Amino acid sequence: MKILTINCGSSSIKYKLFQMPGESLVAKGLLEKIGEETSFFRQEVANQITETRRPVKNHDEGLKLITESLLSGSPPAIKDIREIGGVGHRVVHGGEGFDRSVVITEDVIARIEEYQELAPLHNPPNLAGIKAARRVFSHCVQVASFDTAFHRTIPEVAYLYAIPFRFYTQHGIRRYGFHGTSHRYVARRAAELLGKGKYDLNAITCHLGNGCSVTAVRNGRSVDTSMGLTPLEGLIMGTRSGDIDPGVILFLAERLGIEMAALNRLLNRESGLLGISGTSNDFRNLLAEREKGNQQANLAIEMFCYRLRKYIGAYLAVLGQTDAIVFTGGIGENVPLVRERSLSNLQSLGIILDQQANQEAKGERIISQKESKIAVLVIPTDEELRIAVDTYTLAHSHLSG
Ligand code: ADP
Repeated sequence: MKILTINCGSSSIKYKLFQMPGESLVAKGLLEKIGEETSFFRQEVANQITETRRPVKNHDEGLKLITESLLSGSPPAIKDIREIGGVGHRVVHGGEGFDRSVVITEDVIARIEEYQELAPLHNPPNLAGIKAARRVFSHCVQVASFDTAFHRTIPEVAYLYAIPFRFYTQHGIRRYGFHGTSHRYVARRAAELLGKGKYDLNAITCHLGNGCSVTAVRNGRSVDTSMGLTPLEGLIMGTRSGDIDPGVILFLAERLGIEMAALNRLLNRESGLLGISGTSNDFRNLLAEREKGNQQANLAIEMFCYRLRKYIGAYLAVLGQTDAIVFTGGIGENVPLVRERSLSNLQSLGIILDQQANQEAKGERIISQKESKIAVLVIPTDEELRIAVDTYTLAHSHLSG
């Protein structure tokens, strides 16, 4: 059986096709600028890359284009659409309702619609993708995998904000956390690599991509995470501020008269690494600028590492006994400097990095010394594979049940 995973943004669809249960990647692709005059489409099958530009009106047309390309490429990724036995959708916000991936029903769709208020930028395109896929792939099971689901085990003391309690009970204002699929995946892989049961591992998992978050995992379950009601809280990110004194926002609004829409843009799109460096939100560019002596780029990098270090320290305190610290995401996997800076001089806490292993290139690996009480690992994340595994499991039991 093949499983298709779909990640829909407002104007994009990213997808991967896996052969299950072997977990091998058959095809992957990307459709961008949906709804614009020319959309961009790129697909890779068996190292053959196809790229086209043409208008694609909406997600329905996008999925049809993707299906045609899967069927018609040379070699074709599938010969018949029925080879696809399940479609797994990434859904950003599952509110308090979902603690795992589920088969999509009318009721599930209604609940995802309910949570739109909590993720107005993400859930609507996720839903558009689900509705389109139900039409295009009507023969098979559709599964929703939620970014928030892994964090449903966070206790009340960690998920509540200290504002009047009624805002939680009446409006659901609380920490939900995101990147759950990635945190869960790397925590499970870390347990395997360290020879532990998946519910025996205490770890701090650092997902450092365009968005960044860190999670405290006790006995294999999330017990705290840095992102909150929205993905704006916590670490410094490409263009998001992360933690900020709410007083700053009041100041910007009241004293400088910045309107709500502009504030939203400022905190989500103009802050973080971009805001401090003034040049880029992309870590590769910042590293290159730093080499050239750009002080602002250097400051952005140092601030990024400092914030991460503070969170790691906080979560060491939350967990007490800790087995592992795991780095993943574009920055976590590829930037030795970030790992080194965020963990330097922590021998007294039982963390001793192996400098050489830290510098080495790609792949899953342990980068701490043998005598380090806490193992440090780099584990490339694979959110789509995790979604595909969940979808396959649910599709399989759906068929046999
Ligand atoms: P997303 O969160 O969109 O999935 P990624 O996990 O790909 O993003 O992470 C993107 C970030 O990772 C960018 O800041 C990018 O510069 C950085 N990054 C990716 N590869 C490298 C690399 N080889 N060296 C340095 N930084 C990298």
